[in-house]
Amino acid sequence: MRTQRSWLLVVVLLTFAWGVDRVAGAEGAARPKNIIILFADGVAATQWELGRYSARVLRKQSFAATDVVFKDGAFGLLSTDPLDAFVTDSAAAASAMSTGVKVDNSAVSMTPAGKAHRTVMEAAKSAGKKIGLVTTAEIYDASPAAFSVHAKDRRESQSIVDQYLAMEPDVLLGGGRDYFLPKSVPGGKRADGKDMVAAFAQKGYRIVRDTRELKNAKGAKLLGLFADEDMAFEVDRDPAKEPSMAEMAKAALDALSAASPNGFVLFVENENTDTAGHYNDAAGVMRALWAFDEALKLALDFRSKAPNDTLVIVTGDHETGGLSATYARRGAAGDARVYTGIANVEMLERITISLGAAARGLGRKPSPEALDKLIAQHFPGFQLDADLREAIMNQSQLDRNFSYATQNALGRMVARQTGFYWGTAGHTTEPVAVGAIGPGADLFKGYQDNTDFGRHLHRLIGGR
Ligand SMILES: [Zn+2]
Repeated sequence: MRTQRSWLLVVVLLTFAWGVDRVAGAEGAARPKNIIILFADGVAATQWELGRYSARVLRKQSFAATDVVFKDGAFGLLSTDPLDAFVTDSAAAASAMSTGVKVDNSAVSMTPAGKAHRTVMEAAKSAGKKIGLVTTAEIYDASPAAFSVHAKDRRESQSIVDQYLAMEPDVLLGGGRDYFLPKSVPGGKRADGKDMVAAFAQKGYRIVRDTRELKNAKGAKLLGLFADEDMAFEVDRDPAKEPSMAEMAKAALDALSAASPNGFVLFVENENTDTAGHYNDAAGVMRALWAFDEALKLALDFRSKAPNDTLVIVTGDHETGGLSATYARRGAAGDARVYTGIANVEMLERITISLGAAARGLGRKPSPEALDKLIAQHFPGFQLDADLREAIMNQSQLDRNFSYATQNALGRMVARQTGFYWGTAGHTTEPVAVGAIGPGADLFKGYQDNTDFGRHLHRLIGGR
């Protein structure tokens, strides 16, 4: 009996040693010089599929996320639950993916005890790499913040901007001018009266305000703020005022790749995919995914010039909205089923306003005339059923987890006629997809946790 037990112990120890050896092997995995993380907030497999299908049938194009990175690279799924719940917010998810440690919802790379774990961008800095943050959200928003700095709560916007100034990322591009400017200035929200745009300029940053200035920008350090808060949805965007995600990615790659002997880490986020999910805006998600893919194609082009130098990663933080393309009956129960397909994504493409802009236009007390005009002008081929009209006029929620009365009712109108239904106006627990192509990509294979994603990044970046 005793001998048997000893043998068992030997087997267990050998297995353990073999496991350790495998990890050590991974330590020795080729380290990329550059890492580009393309981050689609609120996007999981269902949204990627919408991007793939709509790009093929409407744009007659390949969708690089699925058709190149997921197909030819290493592919995995990540669980997203934070420390204090099953469903995550963006702050906790990005914190786990940046530090390799779980935190509570709302926290920015900081544990409940107040411990600040090292972020991806802190590691990159200490490894002598250049760093860049690009987003269509406010630049101090939860995901870019969690990849670089620390806060007990994601709403500490002013402190996050202060930490950016101290950290000096080489490139900062996005929205969120409000927390760079004092309250005394139009659009400014800072309580301490400081002008942080001036403070960045003093540190040698080139400041850019619109698309033209971004295209002409020269210089190693770049601060571009293109909106007071979030940047516009694709369908509402004025291309002269606000650059596309791809235009921002291009400017960031140009600035980061010049004179960078130790390489760079660039984080590029599309936030509109998440906001559109909250609003149940299928057309908005579709167009944001196309914008994301344009930026990804640029990153893949950059990589193709020196494939052994650059790792490109495509991922998201959590799913938003419980999107499910399905089928429905056209009218009464006896009608034939209509399977969601080409005609339905064509209907999405004909919508000429985001649901967010539609709701802002209608205001809190919509008039029936304004509502009729909105539907006729921007939603060709759609009819607003009586129950949804009533919900908008009374500003009542469809259900308690549909928090945005106008947006969600319009989203339900679109769903009834296209089959793009939504389960919620919030986040869900669907695991997120991760695809990686380049040196170190294999680490991301398989079903892992979002903290594993962070640990792999730290392993690949190194740093002191
Ligand atoms: Zn969200």
